[in-house]
Amino acid sequence: MKNLLLRFQSFVLKDVENENEARKTALLIRLFTLIMSAYFLIQSVVLLLACNWNVSVIGVFCLSSYMALFFGTYMNHTKIVLNFLQIISIFWIVHYVYMLGWDSGVQDFLFAILVFNFIASTSSLHVKVCYGAFLWMAWNGLFLLVNLHPSVYTMGLRLQMWMQIINIMFIFIIVTVSIYIFSKEAQQMESKLVKYNERVRKMADIDALTQLYNRRAVLEAVNKRIDVHKNDYALVDIAIADIDFFKRVNDTYGHEGGDVVLRNVAQMLQEMVAPYGEVGRWGGEEFLIAFYGINGDEACGVLEDIRRRIQKTEIEYQEQRISVTMTFGLEEYEYGHNIDETISKADQKLYSGKNAGRNRVVF
Ligand code: GH3
Ligand code: MG
Ligand code: MG
Repeated sequence: MKNLLLRFQSFVLKDVENENEARKTALLIRLFTLIMSAYFLIQSVVLLLACNWNVSVIGVFCLSSYMALFFGTYMNHTKIVLNFLQIISIFWIVHYVYMLGWDSGVQDFLFAILVFNFIASTSSLHVKVCYGAFLWMAWNGLFLLVNLHPSVYTMGLRLQMWMQIINIMFIFIIVTVSIYIFSKEAQQMESKLVKYNERVRKMADIDALTQLYNRRAVLEAVNKRIDVHKNDYALVDIAIADIDFFKRVNDTYGHEGGDVVLRNVAQMLQEMVAPYGEVGRWGGEEFLIAFYGINGDEACGVLEDIRRRIQKTEIEYQEQRISVTMTFGLEEYEYGHNIDETISKADQKLYSGKNAGRNRVVF
């Protein structure tokens, strides 16, 4: 039994084969036709019990039509099915009001159809609003009709009550199901969009080769930090680091070998800087390191550790071992000054380190 239910569920939830059609439309039509089939089953029983078999015959016709439309959604013509569904629905609503009168409450199904169509249809909003106006006119037309012509059958109070109860229940079911599907889809779209935005943001901030912040992102992060602490003057130090004789690495091991070195150096920098601040790829084989909450001397100590580790490390590339060294220029940031000034001073110190023989930290 459970297996059968699961198979039925996956049959109803089955996706449309035509990629130009919306799954939501097909799913809503299937649910709508199933709900309406249940409605006509119950309604036929009620009408038969009340000896209105003439009206219940129309119910059987509607039930078969809705079932045909249900299977029609598997034939890749969802739009046509949706149009037929509206025509059949309006047809029986008019017919029922004509036969049983206003007190049957059948005309209220026009509201359910309005909500259903707004969510199921892929037409433009203009068309949907026009369709809403049409349903409103249909409602008025029906109102006029019942005022001009008495209904064919006069329902007893009991039957009237039952019809009203069943109608309102099914109208609520259709509206609830339609809104449920709409909300679920909206939520899914929203979470997809959030994930997509995160991915785009990451792509915009992260350097593809080293997986570090790129130049713009690291500068943005430092500026943000300075802005947050502009009143408490929390310590910030900036270092510019550059791999020594990197051109030679490229010349000896090829560009790919150079890339492997860049990735490894970036990873070491990331690991060792993480407890104190952040690091980004400043360009080529240059990196910007920002230390937060420690003074220049302490930052200098951390940079010395990094320098020694890089010097000691042998980077493997195609069964060869590559060793590089790095030179660092370090400058403390002073609040009230432009960060570009600090970076430029760190850069000058880096070049004085290069001129003094490389593989050192200049503070
Ligand atoms: P110095 O010690 O003075 O810094 O010497 P250097 O050779 O490191 O300096 P230079 O600026 O002359 O060379 C940097 C080289 O880095 C040149 C460029 O081809 C290379 N480079 C820049 N970006 C990349 C990259 O993404 N991958 C690789 N493999 N090489 C890069
Ligand atoms: Mg260099
Ligand atoms: Mg350089």
